[in-house]
Amino acid sequence: MSRKDDIEKIKKHGFKAFRPERHSYEDENGQKHMQCKFCCEYQKVDDNVGWITCSSCLTKIDMIQHPESFISKQYKPTGRPPGWHWMAEFVDKDGNVFHKGKEQPDLKGTLKPTKIKPRKKKKKLSADQKLQRDLKNWKKRKQIKRKQKTKK
Ligand SMILES: [Zn+2]
Repeated sequence: MSRKDDIEKIKKHGFKAFRPERHSYEDENGQKHMQCKFCCEYQKVDDNVGWITCSSCLTKIDMIQHPESFISKQYKPTGRPPGWHWMAEFVDKDGNVFHKGKEQPDLKGTLKPTKIKPRKKKKKLSADQKLQRDLKNWKKRKQIKRKQKTKK
């Protein structure tokens, strides 16, 4: 099963739903093995008491409980808006001052960070909505034309 499926499962049933009804065994070398309470994968253990969570499941749990830390591990945003190096003056959150993308070390910490406007997300229109939008635009144009005619 993929990691994604496992995460869905854990999310759906919750951690508590995974009760440690797991089997354990001892191999011929006396090494104890136990099943992970989430994925049933056998793991080597010193003591087969209670239940264990394997390292891959620990990662999954970590991803669920701290998605933000996981994301930040993979992707580190600069916190700078797109096109910041074309701005006449841009101050990042650490107080670094840039004039058209060139750092001005002398000015560091003297200015307030530039406020970044959140980018508006463009909604994807369905074919039907597109048609309605086009119809609206067409009606508007028609009205404008009419007004122009009446003015003359
Ligand atoms: Zn596991």
